Amino acid sequence: MARSYVHEARKRVGPKRARIRPIVERLTAVHPDAKIALWHGNPLELLVAVMLSAQTTDVNVNHVTPALFRKYRRPEDYLAVPPEELERDIYRTGFFRQKAKAIRGTMRMLVEEFDGEVPRRIEELVRLPGVARKTANVVAAELGNPQGIVVDTHVLTKQEDPVKIERDLQKLVPRHDWGQFPHLLIWHGRRVCIARRPLCEECVVNDLCPSSRV
Ligand code: SF4
Repeated sequence: MARSYVHEARKRVGPKRARIRPIVERLTAVHPDAKIALWHGNPLELLVAVMLSAQTTDVNVNHVTPALFRKYRRPEDYLAVPPEELERDIYRTGFFRQKAKAIRGTMRMLVEEFDGEVPRRIEELVRLPGVARKTANVVAAELGNPQGIVVDTHVLTKQEDPVKIERDLQKLVPRHDWGQFPHLLIWHGRRVCIARRPLCEECVVNDLCPSSRV
């Protein structure tokens, strides 16, 4: 029963390939301000903010980073203080010991191998200690070089494995939209497609959405 309902709904809205472009265009039009919520002013701050955002909210990270980034301006600054001092400075974001260790390891590698600059390529970013593929994807996309699509709990496909989900999306979403697409989904989820009470009647993609309640 449920299965045939899903099948009918998918048939009604047509093939994904034909829907993706209007979906991206319409979401871009209604969420022109959709962007990363982590406060940052340069690539180094972006990298640190994304590393701190693991297992916590962007709001928590944004509470910590203004003072943090005033104090630590270059990779060397993170290495110039005892580890415990950095741990105290990022305490509020949780998992502060692991995060401080990862940040220090990353800063050391930036200094030793990248002239103190944040690399743009995913292959280089994932070499940094404590920088997982998702972090690398977010940073690369924000620096104008998306090489994947950031997959989070808001993204569901027939797959459950994030790597497979990312692969599905890469086949579907035009490459030049890879960076912006996750932000559109996040902002649409916050404003319209709210998990327990989606506002389908107000939704600009309701005619293209198999889950529409309209
Ligand atoms: S139609 Fe409803 S379920 Fe589909 S994206 Fe819009 S708000 Fe979400």
